[in-house]
Amino acid sequence: MNDHDYLPTLVTVFGLILLLTLESWLPAAGNRRRRLLHTARNLTLGLLNALAVALLAAPLIANVAGWTEGSRFGLLNLLSLPPAMATVTAILLFDGWLYLLHRANHKFGFLWRFHRVHHSDPEMDATTAIRFHTGEVLISSALRLAVIPLLGMTLWQLLVYESLMMPVIMFHHSNVNFPEKADRWLRALVASPAIHRVHHSRMQVETDSNYSIIFSFWDRIGGTLRLRKDGRPVDFGLAEYDSEESQRVSGLLTTPFQSA
Ligand SMILES: [Zn+2]
Ligand SMILES: [Zn+2]
Repeated sequence: MNDHDYLPTLVTVFGLILLLTLESWLPAAGNRRRRLLHTARNLTLGLLNALAVALLAAPLIANVAGWTEGSRFGLLNLLSLPPAMATVTAILLFDGWLYLLHRANHKFGFLWRFHRVHHSDPEMDATTAIRFHTGEVLISSALRLAVIPLLGMTLWQLLVYESLMMPVIMFHHSNVNFPEKADRWLRALVASPAIHRVHHSRMQVETDSNYSIIFSFWDRIGGTLRLRKDGRPVDFGLAEYDSEESQRVSGLLTTPFQSA
């Protein structure tokens, strides 16, 4: 392991502490009686995923990225861009890939079984950004083994991408009262809280929109951007998984294997 390898983890821990503080100080939705329990459950899932990735996926991804760089394989190596341009292009292309994967997570029943664990959170906040089923994380990691060589991405570019992605996704899930005016500026380029909150709505027509991860222009290009014009707060979650049983760590982990 290299020192750089810990950059996304460090950014995540620091960002989470900052946002948990802001959510106490300036909450969008207040009066949360079980916030600590909710945080503990989402953190448990996040830690489990970090462990699974570190043990099963990270060594393989580092290997494939190292091979890609050494053999100059893939699209970015064909383009022979200056290093800074290559990194910017890698970030854009990888973000486009994750937009497509996110759409696939909603379109295909098998993938939705796992992804619905992220959507069943009835109290969205910064910890929702790490609430994913381990199966979804491992499927996404396995696909990286093909996407990284195809794009010609280096490990460094992947780490830069993840270090940018984590603060963006923690912020757009957060329960921070972010002013509409500032959100309008932010969402011109980035998937803002107003954009991503609509994606977590209980209304399917809203869930089937706003798949962007970092850059909001993927939704504009794909015709999937949707905003609430009236500014009403979004009711988060999935009706089938509201029960206490479903929201426990054991319920979250078994959700993909239950018939909907
Ligand atoms: Zn989704
Ligand atoms: Zn989300």
